[in-house]
Amino acid sequence: MSYLETLFNIKGKRVVLTGGGGILAGEMAKGFVNAGAKVALLDINEESVFQKAKSLSRPGNEQLGLKCNVLDENNLKEIHQKILNQFGRIDVLVNAAGGNMSGATIGLNETVFDLKMENFKKVTDLNLNGTVLPTLIFGKTIADQNYGSIINISSMASYRAITRVIGYSAAKAAIDNFTRWMAVELASKFGNGIRINAIAPGFLLTEQNRTLLTNQDGSLTERGKTIINMTPFKRFGEPEELVGTALWLACDASRFVTGAVVPIDGGFSVSSGV
Ligand code: NAD
Repeated sequence: MSYLETLFNIKGKRVVLTGGGGILAGEMAKGFVNAGAKVALLDINEESVFQKAKSLSRPGNEQLGLKCNVLDENNLKEIHQKILNQFGRIDVLVNAAGGNMSGATIGLNETVFDLKMENFKKVTDLNLNGTVLPTLIFGKTIADQNYGSIINISSMASYRAITRVIGYSAAKAAIDNFTRWMAVELASKFGNGIRINAIAPGFLLTEQNRTLLTNQDGSLTERGKTIINMTPFKRFGEPEELVGTALWLACDASRFVTGAVVPIDGGFSVSSGV
């Protein structure tokens, strides 16, 4: 094996991705499979996760698609055992279940004082607790192996105040903090074979935000224009642009990297707009 092959050792890795029926986890899963890993996709949406796993499977190289709610501890434990029975170990966990919710965003003609706490709690629960809980359950196996990598998904909303998006931003900022806290906890108690980092995607045009950022004819909305003006690359990102960073964080090429939050944002997070 060449030196580079030992560094970029994705082949044969067993990778669990939550939110696996979704766009970003699906794209990362494709990258992992193409690089020779085996993936288990977990999602509350049974149909989308089965479909995704099927589309990534090849004869003799099946990928797992499992219905799972990242907020249900017993369900997670059961799925964890199923994956261990099939894979024997878990090398990588990608916590990609999450997203914003319409009720948790302040409406165009509202102020923060119109916010319903019930919606704030729902969005922080999914994004924060939905990352913490799988990390405790799958991360324990990784810690017991003394080897593996956990990748959380943050957002630009954790760096800069994004108007109207309050609960999601608070949850993503908490994910950054959790990533740093866990990096220290895992390294100091389980050794330096276990790492935890986060990816902070910039603005990617996906079905979730298409109507917020573009009009029906494909032109930019005012919000879309503001984002592009603040992005030195002057474009939105593509989901596949997360894949290289996810693979890098999963393998030994990043073996001295832990507790980092890596922006993938065309420069949005460092731009002052001037
Ligand atoms: P997506 O909606 O396509 O995928 C999210 C998936 O999570 C969905 O398939 C959904 O069914 C699943 N899910 C929701 N609740 C769940 C639960 N309780 N248990 C299990 N699965 C559940 O969204 P995406 O764009 O692929 O986003 C993935 C992650 O990336 C999210 O954390 C999101 O906040 C983050 N992110 C997305 C963008 C973007 O531009 N799309 C930018 C920054 C961060």
